[in-house]
Amino acid sequence: MSDQYTVTALAIEQLTHDVRRFRFDKPEGYRFVPGQATELHLDRDGWRDEGRPFTFTSLPQDDHLEFTIKSYPDHDGVTEQLGELQGGEQVVIGDAWGAIEDRGPGMFIAGGAGVTPFIAILRQRLASDTLDGCHLVFSNSTEGDIIMREDFEAMPGLRSTFLVTDQPGSPLAASRLDGTSLEELIDDIDQQFYVCGPPGMVDDVSSALRKLGAEPDGITFEDG
Ligand SMILES: Cc1cc2nc3c(=O)[nH]c(=O)nc-3n(C[C@H](O)[C@H](O)[C@H](O)COP(=O)(O)OP(=O)(O)OC[C@H]3O[C@@H](n4cnc5c(N)ncnc54)[C@H](O)[C@@H]3O)c2cc1C
Repeated sequence: MSDQYTVTALAIEQLTHDVRRFRFDKPEGYRFVPGQATELHLDRDGWRDEGRPFTFTSLPQDDHLEFTIKSYPDHDGVTEQLGELQGGEQVVIGDAWGAIEDRGPGMFIAGGAGVTPFIAILRQRLASDTLDGCHLVFSNSTEGDIIMREDFEAMPGLRSTFLVTDQPGSPLAASRLDGTSLEELIDDIDQQFYVCGPPGMVDDVSSALRKLGAEPDGITFEDG
């Protein structure tokens, strides 16, 4: 069984209309690799058994832990509760796990909150000045849903492409992530591809990449 750690909310910041950034203290010796997640449990009556996975968006060398979390008020679930979490409150996390890790520069394809593993990986590459050859392709419903757009645009060496699916008239490309739009965006099919987002999107993008000739070993994916 995974170890359990109680951590305290130090700061909470609203990033978009439904996404907040949570900073927690970091247990002594706690380890993770950028891209990994952990199971988070609220320390509230009625919620302690309801763990949900969230990805670290801070870096392993930081003195705190950070999560970037989208709330779904219509779920009556953990993320609705997290939308009301206050500074000073505690939550319980387990050990770190996850399929996504940095396997080299390439195309990082995200839908909505599926961008979180790429926040950590791209921030780590920013810290080591190794963003050349990295291309973030980030799809959202509307411009107002894009998490950390200015931060990505300001990362030297990172190419960013933002797409919206439900905002007619937006200056951003209004295409869905499919074989046609991906083919236009991909310069080199032999690079690494990282895919994270809602399950339907991950399946569609992964199979489109295979049809375009990407090696199965070159595609790292996780439902987010
Ligand atoms: C590895 C991994 C890492 C992740 N990292 C992040 C991250 O960093 N940030 C982030 O924001 N998310 C992340 N997610 C997604 C996150 O875990 C989910 O958003 C979260 O589990 C939803 O929890 P919830 O309790 O709010 O809702 P759910 O567990 O989806 O639902 C709770 C209840 O709400 C009801 N419900 C479910 N769907 C609907 C619906 N569509 N409409 C109405 N009611 C519904 C159901 O009755 C359900 O029992 C990650 C997921 C994975 C797998």
